[in-house]
Amino acid sequence: MAEAGRGNSTATASMKELEAQVKTCQLCRLSKTRTQSVPGQGNTRTEVMFIGEGPGYHEDKQGLPFVGAAGQFLNELLGIAGLARDTTYITNVVKCRPPNNRDPMPDEIAACAPYLERQIALINPRVIVTLGRYSMAKFFPGERISQIHGTARMVDGRLCVAMYHPAAGLHQASLADIIRDDFRKLPVYLEQSRKVAAPPIEVAEDRVEEAVEARESVVYEPSTGVVLEEPAPQIREEAAPTLQPTPQPEERGVASSTTPVGRSKRAPKKSDYKQASFFEL
Ligand code: SF4
Repeated sequence: MAEAGRGNSTATASMKELEAQVKTCQLCRLSKTRTQSVPGQGNTRTEVMFIGEGPGYHEDKQGLPFVGAAGQFLNELLGIAGLARDTTYITNVVKCRPPNNRDPMPDEIAACAPYLERQIALINPRVIVTLGRYSMAKFFPGERISQIHGTARMVDGRLCVAMYHPAAGLHQASLADIIRDDFRKLPVYLEQSRKVAAPPIEVAEDRVEEAVEARESVVYEPSTGVVLEEPAPQIREEAAPTLQPTPQPEERGVASSTTPVGRSKRAPKKSDYKQASFFEL
């Protein structure tokens, strides 16, 4: 089970303010077709945050994430991982339902990004689990979910785990057991994430600023939402990750068949928090 203690009462209050902003947000075209926005749900003191794509029909009606059939499967998957849903925080890349469940457009994702970045900064989770392509693209740019599902990498000092969207297991029965197997790895990933320094809040706050700047300066094609120009991300261009995927077995405290992250031997610097190599259990 996820341990409490990451956030605090100030974070909880700020999350409520953010959720109130999302409820009335009209920054992109999705505000015109939604029934209500879906900011997110869960425990701001969690160590584990789940990020899906966008609300669907039932989520749009209820104002809560993952409450339809995919949500039922997610609940099963959380149980497999030993996580009670109310000890986690669950949200989406876009907070309003795209019409007819179409894919969110790039400009909609850019418009909504500051909310997601602020949620990450408020919670500052040790582990982020991406559910589906759009959240995966944020932390694993250029990768394919069919190739990296169930694997993890360090991004900004936190462990990011790529998972299929639960709906994929509903639409394609052969994927359901693969997704269950991937979720069985989560407890070990969480354990490994506790062996490294806590994610630096400064980096998460920088991400919020970057996302706000991008939202204000992004240039897109109005009819398609395709982003034509956007500022280059700053932190991802920095080098020198210190977290290595192959520590000595005696340092791990877990079965030697795993390939977890190691422990940094010095105080982390902002420039350390960049993507490290993929590793998988
Ligand atoms: S999707 Fe995000 S940016 Fe667009 S209206 Fe909803 S909350 Fe605002």
